[in-house]
Formats: sequence, C-alpha cells, structure tokens
Amino acid sequence: MSRPVSEQKLVERHPWTLPWWKVEGENSGTLAYIVTVHVLAVIGIALFPVPGWNVFLWSFSLASIGALGTTVAYHRGLAHRAVKLNPIVEQVLIFAAVFNGSGSPHTWIANHRNHHAKADTIEDVSSPRHGGFWWAHLRWLYQWEPSSMKKWCPDVIRTRYTIWAKLQIPLVLISIVFGYGLFGWAGLFWIGAIRLVYCLHMQAFVNSLLHLKPGLAEGVDSSQNIWWLGPLQLTAWGENWHGNHHACPGSARFSRRWWQVDIGWYTIRALHAIGLATHMRVNKQ
Ligand SMILES: [Zn+2]
Ligand SMILES: [Zn+2]
Repeated sequence: MSRPVSEQKLVERHPWTLPWWKVEGENSGTLAYIVTVHVLAVIGIALFPVPGWNVFLWSFSLASIGALGTTVAYHRGLAHRAVKLNPIVEQVLIFAAVFNGSGSPHTWIANHRNHHAKADTIEDVSSPRHGGFWWAHLRWLYQWEPSSMKKWCPDVIRTRYTIWAKLQIPLVLISIVFGYGLFGWAGLFWIGAIRLVYCLHMQAFVNSLLHLKPGLAEGVDSSQNIWWLGPLQLTAWGENWHGNHHACPGSARFSRRWWQVDIGWYTIRALHAIGLATHMRVNKQ
C-alpha cells in the first residue's frame, strides 16, 4: 500500500504534468473503471447503434435518478448543507449516485469542498487553469489523491456514508452488467456502459467546461453558466448554472432566473412540500 501524499506535496509535484495514463496514489480502480466503460460503450454503439425504446427508457431513467442523487444528495445536501433530506430519501439517492458511477459520498464531498476552498488556484483539485481541459475533465479523478476526509468532511465520517465505499465496487459491477438480464446484449451495453459513460462526461463538464475561461489571473473566479449544456446534461439537473453556484455555494437553488431550468431545485421543493426535505437555504437574489 502506498503512503498517502500530503495535499501540499501533491501540488508541488504538479500532477497534471504526468503522462495521462499514470495513476497517482491508490486510484488505479478509477482509471480501470474509466477505460472499461469507454471500451464497452464503443463496442456497444458499434453493435447496437439504435436501442429499442424500452432499453433507452431504462437507461435514461437510471441516469436521471443517479444524477438527482449527485446534485441533490451529494452536492446540495451533504457537501454544502443547503438542505436536509429525510434519511431514507438520502440513502436512496446515495444508492442511485453510487450506481451511476459517482463514487462514494465522503470522497465526492471531500474533493468538492476542497475544490470550492481552493477554486482557481494551483491547489484546486480540478482546475483547467494549470492542467488544461482533460485534467479538469477526467485526469484529476485518478491523478490527484482523494482529498483528506478528516480535513474536509469530518461531519460525513459516519457509517451510513462510509459504508458506500465498501459497497461501491460490487454495485458498479452490477450496474455495468445487469441490463443483460433485462434486454440481452443491447440492454447490457446501453443500460450499462453507455449510460455510465454519458453520465461520467456530463458530470465531468462541471469541472472542465464550466471552469474553462482561459487567460484569467490566478485565483480569479472562472466558474460560469452555460445554458446550452442544460439540454445536453439532461441528467445533471441544473448543474450547468455553475457560475450562480460559485457565487452563492450555500444556496440549494442553482438557478436565478425563471428560465434557468433547475430540476435539482424543483425536486428539493417537491420533497419539501411533502415533508421529506427541510432546512433549505436559498439565495435571495
Ligand atoms: Zn466549480
Ligand atoms: Zn458546490
């Protein structure tokens, strides 16, 4: 087992200068996952370019619920404490996020709080400023050692969250293959790898494209809203208003205007209406 590297030492090593295939720390599983789902997705699209409606709806529905898990439970609920979810709803959403390949909650939350605290500096876990687009999009996931849980999310070191780290590998393996049992080979590829690749990139755009503003000075906010990413990111549910979010990270609402579609926020409102979400914090703008 390799020794964990302090965040400061990691930054000094400029991990974005490593070759893209070189894994840092204990992230080899992450790179293996990214490669595996991409290879399977390419094979799947070559063999079954057009899935049946049933297959597509299963794939889309799972992606959508998983994205709600990421944006509502991981991001707005746990990382920013902008809303308190009913514990059962929270666990269901965490399951959906893990099943969608978003990783375990405490890892996600530690990295995300670290990102906000150091945004747009050389210490930002996923900034494209120093590492470029692909660093921000995918490479940081396996070339930056996961942020310290003790430092960044001591409030989330509880069994109900950390247990998902143990469940993650079997759940992801099931997630990749279980479509075969429903619809044969087309189901395996579309409900498995193709869905997971789509979700991976739609979430990765939040770190890459939504921070891609070349030419800004160190530390100057690069976060932005990109309206056209919303329709593409049908399964990221409002995360495309990332400029709004960085301006007010504690708000459960990412949209600011009526036309800024924010399905994560609508979901929180609906859960609140039936008593399954409380303590909502909302930006008054
Ligand atoms: Zn950001
Ligand atoms: Zn955030």
